[in-house]
Amino acid sequence: MRPYSELAEGLFVLNVPMFPLYVLRGGRHQGGAMIDCAVLAKAGEIREKLAALLGSERLAMTLLTHSHYDHVGACSLLQEAHDFAIIASQRTKDVLDSDKAVAFIDDLNQKFKALENDRSDSRFIRPRSVRAVAEGDRVDLPDGRRLEVYETPGHTRCSLAFLLRPGNVLFAGDAAGVVERSGRIKPLFLSSYSMYEASLQKLLGLDADLLALAHNAAVQGRGRVRAFLEGSLAETRRLKEKIVAWLGESQDFARIAERILAEEYDAPTLLGPREALLINVTAMVKSVFHEFVKVP
Ligand SMILES: [Zn+2]
Repeated sequence: MRPYSELAEGLFVLNVPMFPLYVLRGGRHQGGAMIDCAVLAKAGEIREKLAALLGSERLAMTLLTHSHYDHVGACSLLQEAHDFAIIASQRTKDVLDSDKAVAFIDDLNQKFKALENDRSDSRFIRPRSVRAVAEGDRVDLPDGRRLEVYETPGHTRCSLAFLLRPGNVLFAGDAAGVVERSGRIKPLFLSSYSMYEASLQKLLGLDADLLALAHNAAVQGRGRVRAFLEGSLAETRRLKEKIVAWLGESQDFARIAERILAEEYDAPTLLGPREALLINVTAMVKSVFHEFVKVP
């Protein structure tokens, strides 16, 4: 496997299985910008592949789409080598400032390391130099391009998407859903179903020409991006209807979550601790309950 590929002019992807890492690097080579940081277990692989792409140059900045353990895990280790600034939402900044949250992110990363037989003593610690951005902000890249910032809550409350101009490339984190290698899309409305659906509509309205997904794939071409996001929306609504029906039978969130895991997540996109998956699925059941079932 080649260490990286060029997806579009000045847009590279580090070929890390399950965790494609997008690096923006223009012609003048003034350091690059990366989107998200994957898991701690991949830090060594990312560092090597970055070196293959950048040589002795360093990343100037890393933008975080949200604060999940599998998007920030390698951050603190990579910062040792690259000393980049981190750009994220205020909520992500707050999470990374919390000792309790940092310990939780480290714990899930240690579990992921165990699954990968990584016995090193690496740890996730609080990253440095985090700058908060919000809807409507613009992030100027070292190469003269810019990223527009969009708030896309629903997957988490801290989620952001970034749109590259020029180029019309959308970095949506997990707000667009997570795609399996089979092409099937898994909705992940962990903090709010309604906000997740509204965020998907917002992403559709951006008319991106390339959708750089955080896991497994990138979708190229405006028509394909639109079809993907519409498919994601349809899957999201289908899963909600299913959860509403199950909640009509019983309000045992844990049991419904197990049922979803068995029926919908039989071929998990992301290898990872089952605990993290169960937390996610239970959160979706609770969100549907509070927004559609519960009588106030
Ligand atoms: Zn996520």
